[in-house]
Amino acid sequence: METPNFSIEFYPPKTAEGAEKLRAVRAKLSELHPKYFSVTFGAGGTTQNGTLDTVREILAAGDDAAPHLSCIGGTRESIRALLNEYKSHGIKRIVALRGDLPSGYGASGEFRYANELVEFIRAETGDWFRIEVAAYPEVHPQAKSPQDDLLAFERKVKAGADAAITQYFYNADAYFQFVEQTGKLGITVPIVAGIMPITNYTQLMRFSDMCGAEIPRWVRLKLASYGDDSASIKAFGLDVVGSLCERLLAGGAPGLHFYSMNQTAATTALWQRLV
Ligand code: FAD
Repeated sequence: METPNFSIEFYPPKTAEGAEKLRAVRAKLSELHPKYFSVTFGAGGTTQNGTLDTVREILAAGDDAAPHLSCIGGTRESIRALLNEYKSHGIKRIVALRGDLPSGYGASGEFRYANELVEFIRAETGDWFRIEVAAYPEVHPQAKSPQDDLLAFERKVKAGADAAITQYFYNADAYFQFVEQTGKLGITVPIVAGIMPITNYTQLMRFSDMCGAEIPRWVRLKLASYGDDSASIKAFGLDVVGSLCERLLAGGAPGLHFYSMNQTAATTALWQRLV
């Protein structure tokens, strides 16, 4: 099998201790030679400096890195300033998102949807950045309908996205169906599958509720049956997610994007299974 094109996501550490730990994690995962690392960005200002600091460290260590940039809550002026700052640090990739405002955060800013951000980035910076956008094979939780969501995705691509990364999912058919539908619309950009390793049942249930990812019943019941037997959860998770990755790559997925949760073990184990 040809080596798949893969990337790894981090979130910016909140403490000096977290930053130190992430340095070690990044050094270890760097040995797998991912195409790039991406670093998430909190809407409303919570982790924005952390995103840039983390991206700069990754670049300084010799790997490629992409900051996520969410536009909700931002103004044209604030996003322009960030784009200029990213350019001045030699950053060439961006994951462009709408984002979600933290509860209680009032103003929604000057951008409503991610396609407006992609359009703005292209208008301001031309082809400087390679832009990735988000895709939702299981449909974004706020979408009016699957068809509306598909058309929203099309708008982001038409606005100038080079590629997409999906929300994580455990139903491979949802991904293949989504790719087929985008193909019918004439969309040809690579749609990289987002992969969430399974290592912790409670955390997985909480995230999946928030972002609209479906945990198949049999997976949920098996995970629940392991209780706090963390070794069994991890072994079962590796099996389920490893098979998913194999099926996606065999079915033509152009790459995988691992939501590492700033941990090495699960991403490394999955990767070793695939190469
Ligand atoms: P959009 O593409 O704008 O879509 C949002 C919703 O609006 C969808 O339901 C869509 O159907 C609908 N919509 C779009 N256009 C219209 C329109 N014209 N009229 C009506 N409805 C419309 N969040 C963060 O805060 N920080 C991160 O770093 C981050 N990283 C992510 C990385 C990936 C790979 C993914 C998949 C998600 C990430 N998220 C992140 C979460 C993301 O911000 C949320 O899912 C958010 O709710 C939607 O962002 P979007 O860019 O997909 O929005």
